[in-house]
Amino acid sequence: MPGKPVSELERELGIRDSIKLASNENPLGPSPKARAAVAELLAELARYPDGGGFELRDALAHHHGVSPDMITLGNGSNDILDLIARCFLSPGAEAVFSQYAFAVYPICTQAAGAAAKVAPAHDGSRGPQYGHDLKAMRERVGDETRVVFIANPNNPTGTWLRRDELLAFIDSLPPHVVVVVDEAYIEYVEEADYPDASQWLQDYPNLIVTRTFSKAYGLAALRIGYSLSHPDIAELLNRVRQPFNVNAMAMAAAQAALEDREHIDRSVAVNRAAMVQLTDGFKALGLDYIPSVGNFVCVDVGCPGAEVDAALLQEGCIVRPIAAYGMPQHLRVTIGLEAENARFLAALKKVLEL
Ligand code: PMP
Repeated sequence: MPGKPVSELERELGIRDSIKLASNENPLGPSPKARAAVAELLAELARYPDGGGFELRDALAHHHGVSPDMITLGNGSNDILDLIARCFLSPGAEAVFSQYAFAVYPICTQAAGAAAKVAPAHDGSRGPQYGHDLKAMRERVGDETRVVFIANPNNPTGTWLRRDELLAFIDSLPPHVVVVVDEAYIEYVEEADYPDASQWLQDYPNLIVTRTFSKAYGLAALRIGYSLSHPDIAELLNRVRQPFNVNAMAMAAAQAALEDREHIDRSVAVNRAAMVQLTDGFKALGLDYIPSVGNFVCVDVGCPGAEVDAALLQEGCIVRPIAAYGMPQHLRVTIGLEAENARFLAALKKVLEL
């Protein structure tokens, strides 16, 4: 479930000026260059978009140093995940992913009629608590496994995998297994050991890397994401996608956004400082949180998260309860602007003291 829209909350509660820290969006919004690209296209609304996405794929190919036939465009990276499931999963097949992994993996596995093999996450003894346990995941890969989904970093936990462990895992997989490394939050990650899996594409024809413009690029409303893969896989994905799955404004905005490196740097700097602000706030309240490298963080409120969430809504703060992930005491909070984080922390303090 996506976070409640601000307009819905305000209608329901009769309040104004609420804040939404619920869907891992960029609080700075997109690059001004992306807005300008959208405005320019208003004159062309009657025209179908380029169904082949030539210009954006070309720009992405340059950006990544790969050939355009390795790129598939999607209506958000969610669309790509769904295309992957439709291409490679069917009744009788299995998909492997971790406990607490991004919710779309079980959804698209089920939609394709395949079986989910869920590996328990780390309990904290051999790796970061709540993080993907690659050994447990590898043990669940069998003859019927067709897809392994890995989010690095993962949503909602914010946990991440190091270069050496992820590469060894991918290397250990049999060639009939497609491995999806979902890098929706890669722009935010600053850890030296964090890998960009797209650099391994030449060595692993069974590897698909997914990316999105919804997070650091601030274009969630337009729905644009993509995958990088061997051309043979891209060809399969292209065969099942709808001819105009990505709209013209999304492609133009994405291309403009890609060129604005400064905006990404600014967004990452804002996120870095605000993450410290939020986690310091949690420490001051005596609350545990899961160390995160994304633009969100999970805090353990020490009681049912749904109740705290309901009380926060009354204060005009929308965050994300994650009981559906099997984390009933945690709330996932997206990193906002300084004033938004301060307001949220004050509301959380008030609600927990009641
Ligand atoms: N992967 C992960 C890990 C995510 O958190 C999200 C967004 N919540 C997505 C993929 C999909 O995002 P989009 O469809 O907007 O690209």
